[in-house]
Amino acid sequence: MRRITLFVLVIFTVSKNANSQAVKYDVFAVKFTSMGQATATSVWASGAPANDSVHIDFSVWLIKGSNGRNILLDAGFLPDIEDARDFGIVNYTRPDSMLLKLGVKAGDISDIIISHPHWDHIDGLGLFPNAKVWMQKDDYTYFVVGAWQKDGNHGGFHPRDVRLFTDLNLAGRLMLVDGDNKEIIPGIKVFTGSRHTFNSQYVLVETGSNNIILASDNIWVYYSLDHLVPASPGGTLDNAGYVKAMQRMKSMVSDVKFIIPGHDAEVFTKFRQVIPGVAAIK
Ligand SMILES: [Zn+2]
Repeated sequence: MRRITLFVLVIFTVSKNANSQAVKYDVFAVKFTSMGQATATSVWASGAPANDSVHIDFSVWLIKGSNGRNILLDAGFLPDIEDARDFGIVNYTRPDSMLLKLGVKAGDISDIIISHPHWDHIDGLGLFPNAKVWMQKDDYTYFVVGAWQKDGNHGGFHPRDVRLFTDLNLAGRLMLVDGDNKEIIPGIKVFTGSRHTFNSQYVLVETGSNNIILASDNIWVYYSLDHLVPASPGGTLDNAGYVKAMQRMKSMVSDVKFIIPGHDAEVFTKFRQVIPGVAAIK
């Protein structure tokens, strides 16, 4: 009996050590299109001065594991979606073609974490045939059900994306995450509280050397982070929560530069572009 106990203990210790050889992650911001014109910062961040402007990019974020796992945050959009026309987009390259420049094939994406279901972040999901898709449960339920009811708000949601998610769910590829501070993949945690949508989430990557927060639209632009002001009206359902979430993000990184907003083109000047449009976050 005692020998068995010892055996179990040894096995447990060995497997624990194996787990503690943590996966290392490289993180990339991958821009696939931009707005052709700079816009007033006040369009994106409350209280920004009238003469302040910002260039807006559209990106996906690649989290490349040393174990071969390729994780995306968000999936971008396809160029034929009507909503994109209002944004005067230029220099569009399909997100999967951008990833190919990094040597990552669409079929090699193992996981896609969805920050929130706006068309510009999810419409490209169909490009990645093998990915498991991770989304907040309450965000999903509102997106596919509540938003389309009488008192619902489906601004930024596209019917074809609702169908895409329904199909994903039927195919058994949709993984619903229930709430805040969940480690969904070793070294990858998701957090809620900003309420960019019903229950939007952001991602903390423990890279092995420092933590990186990929905020997606839980911070639209650097101005909000720098001045701790909420997104402009329509950018969050909870102004106080949006600010509190940014303060919390700051407490989770060694340097504020490792908090990456969703649409600010400055990401691509703050960090070195390893190829045009791809910035290595490190
Ligand atoms: Zn967005």
